Amino acid sequence: MWKFDSKGIYTVKSGYKYQYNQLPRAPTLTKDLWKLELPPKVLNFLWRALFNILPVCMNLIHRHVAMSRLCPVCNDELETILHCLITCPFARDYWVTSNVGWWGAVDNFPAWLSMIQTWCDRQQVQKAIMIAWEIWNARNGIVWKQKHVVPYTVLQKAQHFLQEWQLARVSMVSYDPNTVPAVIKWQPPDAGLKCNIDACFDAVTGLMGVGLVIRDSNGQFVEGMCKSLGYVQNSLNAETMRVREALSWVKGRLFNTPLVMEMDCLMVKQALDRILHDNSYFATLIHDCKFLVRDVASLSFSFVKKSANQVAHMLARATGFTSGLAEWSVNPPTFIHDVLLFDLNNN
Ligand SMILES: [Zn+2]
Repeated sequence: MWKFDSKGIYTVKSGYKYQYNQLPRAPTLTKDLWKLELPPKVLNFLWRALFNILPVCMNLIHRHVAMSRLCPVCNDELETILHCLITCPFARDYWVTSNVGWWGAVDNFPAWLSMIQTWCDRQQVQKAIMIAWEIWNARNGIVWKQKHVVPYTVLQKAQHFLQEWQLARVSMVSYDPNTVPAVIKWQPPDAGLKCNIDACFDAVTGLMGVGLVIRDSNGQFVEGMCKSLGYVQNSLNAETMRVREALSWVKGRLFNTPLVMEMDCLMVKQALDRILHDNSYFATLIHDCKFLVRDVASLSFSFVKKSANQVAHMLARATGFTSGLAEWSVNPPTFIHDVLLFDLNNN
């Protein structure tokens, strides 16, 4: 199957060259992919996925291998590369719990990668590819070895490989996962409105964006916005500034119903619940937040896992492409339709 190099030895490079020459329908985004800091075997996998030669069921059928066209994992849909790595419920569960998010509203795998490259920063692109690769390994484990995949192993493995690229977490408030309610899916509020907020902080440029979505007790979209907030020092300040921004935006709306503001940064949530006695910039920001809502009785804060905060996350990411402020009322922007539906279908 592989073409070998001049010495007759298979190398990753000759493998790529082979694939590149054999399949001229090269996606336009391949140039930047070479610059990604990923293990060669992962890049190799990526190339095979991009050129549609990964041996998923639909590709084996084309090679006249007698087998079912259905995905061997969910047994529900044709197994294309996009299905296998992204849209299969098995894969989707991993994407929504990762901080990359689920970007399944595309026609094929190259389109997914193009989407990721457009909307995510370089670190997240790398992480996304690692997750796709681990999903592929887990799928093969299930198909060929009947291996039972323990939930979260896929993410943990991808995480492990990318640890050196991870941003150092600021640990101001001790984090005890046992005290945190394990809400994985987004839940509509019992009454009134729920406002999900998220910040997107680009560690390279220091630029930050904030995303906000308000939904009612039926899960119906009410309002949404994203705003670019310029330069911030670190991600913790970014997280706090988004709360301040969201609060002042919500306050200007004068909603007459109870509103719960949901965020995925536990540190900020906990800081809002207590009195901080230091003079740090962080404490000042928290103070600003409390001051803003001092006369708003029906507002409360809650913490959710990232997986339940996907809509706000996508809106925050969108700030890279909107100048300043973008707002939507009643009708949500098309790029969040899928996640809104996903949140609704999971209740
Ligand atoms: Zn499937």
